Amino acid sequence: MVIGIIGGGASGMAAALAAAENNAVQVVLLERQARVGRKLQATGNGRCNLTNLHAAEGGYHGEEPSFADYAIGRFGPGETLNWFRDLGLFTVAEDGGRVYPYSDQANSVLDVLRFALEKPNITVKLGFEVEKVKKTPSGFRVESKEETLECDRLIVACGGLAGTKLGGTMSGYKLLRGFGHKCTRLRPTLVQLKSGWNGIGALKGVRANCHAAIFHNGHLHSESTGEIQFTEYGISGPVVFEISRDACQGNGEWICRLDLLPDISQDILTRELLRRRTTSLPVSELLTGILHNRLGRVVTQAVGISGYVPVKQLDDNELEEVSRAVKQFEISLTEPMGMDSAQVTAGGIVTKEFNETTMESRIVPGLYACGEVLDIDGDCGGYNLQWAWSSGRLAGLHAGGNL
Ligand SMILES: Cc1cc2nc3c(=O)[nH]c(=O)nc-3n(C[C@H](O)[C@H](O)[C@H](O)COP(=O)(O)OP(=O)(O)OC[C@H]3O[C@@H](n4cnc5c(N)ncnc54)[C@H](O)[C@@H]3O)c2cc1C
Repeated sequence: MVIGIIGGGASGMAAALAAAENNAVQVVLLERQARVGRKLQATGNGRCNLTNLHAAEGGYHGEEPSFADYAIGRFGPGETLNWFRDLGLFTVAEDGGRVYPYSDQANSVLDVLRFALEKPNITVKLGFEVEKVKKTPSGFRVESKEETLECDRLIVACGGLAGTKLGGTMSGYKLLRGFGHKCTRLRPTLVQLKSGWNGIGALKGVRANCHAAIFHNGHLHSESTGEIQFTEYGISGPVVFEISRDACQGNGEWICRLDLLPDISQDILTRELLRRRTTSLPVSELLTGILHNRLGRVVTQAVGISGYVPVKQLDDNELEEVSRAVKQFEISLTEPMGMDSAQVTAGGIVTKEFNETTMESRIVPGLYACGEVLDIDGDCGGYNLQWAWSSGRLAGLHAGGNL
C-alpha cells in the first residue's frame, strides 16, 4: 500500500513517520520547497517552541475547537516529548510550559525529524509541488507539473496561508475544496497589530512588560500579561500575539489599553511621582528609572505636558494624570498585519467534515488532513506545533493501518 502525503512540514513529517511504523506500507512525502520543514526552522525566533506542557488543557480555537481534543488527548505534550526523546532530541521547559530544544536551535528539531525520515519505506520528493489531485477507482492520482504519483491513501498536510515567505499557501485549501470540502474565513492570527496613532513610530524598538487588553467599542475582546514590542507601525511581541486573535476584524473602535507597570499599584506610583517634585528634574525625565526612557517621554507627552516644564511646577492632578496614563495607556488599533507576517491562520477546512478520531474525510474515504490546513488554531506558546504533531501522527497511524 502506498500512502501519499502532500506537505513536508511539521504535520506531514509526523504523519510520514507514524504511517511508516507499518513496514508493509510505502510512504511518499511530497514537498514543493527545496527542503522539508522550512517553516519549522523559523519557529520560536529560530528556537522552536515545539510544544506547551499545558496543551492538553485546551487553548485551541475554530468553529469546533473540541475537534482537537481527541488527537491532543491521545498524543499530547507528554507523548510528544517522549517521541522526540526517542528521536534523539533533548528538550527543556521554560516559563508558561513552553518547551524548546536544549540546544536552543530549531534546526535540532528539524534534524532529528529528517534523520528519522531516512527509512527504507519512506521516500521524500523535494520540489514536488502538487497541482492536481484526482480520486481514482483504487485510490488517488497526485500530479505536479512534471510528475505523477499513484497512491492508495492520501494525507493533505499543506499547512495554512500564514507565513507566506516560509511556505504558507492556499494550496491545501484548494486541493481539499476540489474534493467537496468547505473552508471557513481565513484570518491572520498570532500577528502584529497596526496602530493609527502617530506617536507609535517614536517607540520603534522599545520593549516593555505590561498587561495588555484589547477593547472593541468599549467591550473587552482579549487580555494578557507579558512582553510587548513597539514597531514602526504598531505593536508586536508575545503578549500581542496572545491577544491578537480576531482583533480588528469588525467595524467600530479598536483600542489596546496597556498597564505599563502591572506589578505596581497606581497609588504607589503616584506617591513616587509626588516625591519627584522635590527634585530639579524636567517633565521629560519624570518617569526615568520607572519606564524605558523613550516610553516615559511618550507617556508624559500623551498627557499633554511639555517636557521642558520642571516637575516641581506640576500640581497633584497633573501627576495623578501621568500616573493614570502609565497604568492605562491607550493605543488605537486599525488592522492586523497581513498573512505574510502572521504566525498562524485562523480558519481553515471545516472540521465537521472529518472524523476527529482518525482525521479521515467524511466525504472521500482514504483522504486525510492534518495540521494548520484544518480549522483549528492554538494559543501562542507551542500549541500550534503540538496540533501539527498530534493531528499528523493520528492521520499517519490510521492511513498506515497501524490502529
Ligand atoms: C515565523 C513563525 C514562527 C512560529 N513559531 C511557532 C512556535 O514557536 N511554536 C508553535 O507551536 N508554532 C509556531 N508557529 C506555527 C507553526 O509553525 C505552524 O502552525 C505549523 O508549522 C503548521 O504545521 P503544518 O504541517 O500544518 O504546516 P507547515 O509546517 O506550514 O508545512 C506545510 C508544508 O506543505 C508544503 N506544501 C504546501 N502546499 C504544497 C503543495 N501543493 N505541494 C507540496 N508541498 C506543499 C509547504 O511548503 C510546507 O513545507 C510559527 C509560525 C511562523 C510562521
